[in-house]
Amino acid sequence: MVGMKLRKKFEKGIINKLKSYYIGSLFKKKVRANVLKGKEGADVMAVYQIVRIGESVLKEKAQEVGKITPNIHKLLDNMVETMYDANGVGLAAPQIGVPKRVVVIDTGDGLFELINPVITEKTGEELDQEGCLSIPNLVGDVRRAKKIVAQALNRNGELLEYEAEGLLARAFQHEIDHLNGILFVDVAENVYDKK
Ligand SMILES: [Zn+2]
Repeated sequence: MVGMKLRKKFEKGIINKLKSYYIGSLFKKKVRANVLKGKEGADVMAVYQIVRIGESVLKEKAQEVGKITPNIHKLLDNMVETMYDANGVGLAAPQIGVPKRVVVIDTGDGLFELINPVITEKTGEELDQEGCLSIPNLVGDVRRAKKIVAQALNRNGELLEYEAEGLLARAFQHEIDHLNGILFVDVAENVYDKK
């Protein structure tokens, strides 16, 4: 799913990033540092088993997070750990069996932790290949919006706005689909075996 072409497009997109995004990234760097520290032996982190296609939790509409409790922080920490462990670029809570509207994304340009994410704007179209940690043997060509604007709460309960394009925009759309019980194979134009 990672392509130089898309990555370049995203770098260009950084110039257009909203101020709120920068606030978000500063915060996210700190989280990343905590994750790395956690790997050194703290017992706060856990790698979860990723739920595979066929499990009903992947077809459910996930529930909104009401109050951001220490349990939600723990869920985020464990999702981040699980995503990095699986070399994924994104993970939605239903993929570890938790039907809540929580997503983590890192396409190589920093970590995003999204609670109750909503896409508010979609622009353009792009057909590209996609995969999913819950569907390890398949990839597919999926048409997605090229650019998106999204809003989500961060772990401090602050509502941030994100502007993304290319691979990052694709990751937002793929992961938010998971929260509505939609998998890439449901929306792909072609699905084929991963080489
Ligand atoms: Zn997925």
